[in-house]
Amino acid sequence: MFQIKLSSAMRRVLMAREKIARRNPFFASILFNARLVESEKHQTIWTDGINVYFNPDYVKANDNFIEGDVLEVVMHAAMQHVGRRKHRDLERWNEAADYSIRPLVHQFFRQHPDLHADDGKYPDKAAEEIYELLEKKQTAALLRGRAPTERACLHPSSHRPIVPHFCGIQYRTVRLLSLVIIAYPIRVRGTDGVGN
Ligand SMILES: [Zn+2]
Repeated sequence: MFQIKLSSAMRRVLMAREKIARRNPFFASILFNARLVESEKHQTIWTDGINVYFNPDYVKANDNFIEGDVLEVVMHAAMQHVGRRKHRDLERWNEAADYSIRPLVHQFFRQHPDLHADDGKYPDKAAEEIYELLEKKQTAALLRGRAPTERACLHPSSHRPIVPHFCGIQYRTVRLLSLVIIAYPIRVRGTDGVGN
């Protein structure tokens, strides 16, 4: 009998996928369209706007946060953050995109505690608006003679890579996703819904 041997990291991510999908049909629809790919190209979990890539060492070291981290990259894909970047600076755009989706992710699953600290900083704002605010903030800081130290995209223990967790690969516009978003409004859960 032919059997496919899965790595422990792949098994963990598959388990996360099941858990996430069970929480909301919208998440399920985007997750099951993405391929799960084990890779050591970057240090964490990331997306090219279509698939979900994960570093096995990161998965092993961050067991408590895998559902949250997978959901975050899946939301980047669903919100078309790769294609919406356009001319914008990659690192700042990545940071803005994170601010725009993490509060929602945290209504369903936990991430590293430091990533929860920024929730509510930019309520109800699109990544483009947040990007502009971050840009203004940096310009003001430079005029004052010091660069801002905030780098929300980087994990404190440095397992958030300098290379952001989505790459600038050309993203196929999936208009269907917008319909799915409308069809499956995401239920807002109370704080008792946090965790996995
Ligand atoms: Zn992110």
